[in-house]
Amino acid sequence: MTVLPIREMGDPVLREVARPVTPEELAGAEVQGLIDDMIETMRAADGAGLAAPQVGVPLRIAVIEVREGNPRYPYKPPIPLTVIVNPELTPQGDATFATNEGCLSMPNLRGDLERFENITARYLDREGNEREVTRRGLTAGTFQHEVDHLDGLLFVDRMADMRSLSTWEEFERHGKDDFVRRIEALVERVGS
Ligand code: ZN
Repeated sequence: MTVLPIREMGDPVLREVARPVTPEELAGAEVQGLIDDMIETMRAADGAGLAAPQVGVPLRIAVIEVREGNPRYPYKPPIPLTVIVNPELTPQGDATFATNEGCLSMPNLRGDLERFENITARYLDREGNEREVTRRGLTAGTFQHEVDHLDGLLFVDRMADMRSLSTWEEFERHGKDDFVRRIEALVERVGS
């Protein structure tokens, strides 16, 4: 497995709409190797997820995982390793929550935005099995963030007010305590 370089904002691949993966491609060594490398790259960067365009490949594949004690996102509930191929998200209801996100492709930036509170995700796993899961709260937000990458969107595109854009250091200093309180209330309300 290889840790791949992560593409950063300004790279046109991050603005492309990625194309679906065919069953033959998914079963092949090239895409399976890409998935392994994406997992390795996400873990090396302490990310909560990584989409294929972020390593320069415009295919509809993303990996998501939050392990206990992730130093980048210590407040996120754990998410088991999930590989999503050709995902389709459907919001369950209109409820949204105010969250704050960062992105491996936007180094040292964070900002406030709204995400749907509950989503259903339909996707293929890496073996090509059809899956359908419902996710809530921050985990639902992580799914939405990764699927946005497959549509050429970055979290800043979802921000209603750019004044909350901050560096990680200033977020720690001025925004984090409030945010963590909000998130704890959210987890209590909707689970994760
Ligand atoms: Zn991202």
